[in-house]
Amino acid sequence: MSSDNCLFCKILNGEIPAEIIYESETAIGFRDINAKAPTHVLVIPRKHISTINDIEVHDETVIGSLYTAAREIAVQEGIAEDGYRAVMNCNESAGQTVFHIHLHILGGRQMDWPPG
Ligand code: 5GP
Ligand code: ZN
Repeated sequence: MSSDNCLFCKILNGEIPAEIIYESETAIGFRDINAKAPTHVLVIPRKHISTINDIEVHDETVIGSLYTAAREIAVQEGIAEDGYRAVMNCNESAGQTVFHIHLHILGGRQMDWPPG
């Protein structure tokens, strides 16, 4: 899917509202509309990348910044010490439904392993 029709690009450019709780030069974080845990934040790069399969070597700094964001959000949300999950789904079998990569930050409850 191109960035023209991308839901998360629309959140990035303000066309669709979201509760944005984190912003950096390369990434933003906002609350998931259908939270699966007391804290459920999505971290996305400002650059449109559809899936993990589309990440290129020159994206490594941007991808790294998603984890810096995760660390800061975890502290902000008070879940850093207890623990949290940072997960990115790739394509349909993994459950990816929005094709602009996003790191799910889930915390505030005990997580099961393996995920379903
Ligand atoms: P995926 O299944 O692609 O890994 O995750 C997509 C996530 O985006 C889902 O958890 C879903 O609840 C969330 N989501 C879908 N549409 C919207 C929206 O319009 N706003 C927000 N904040 N989250 C959304
Ligand atoms: Zn996009």
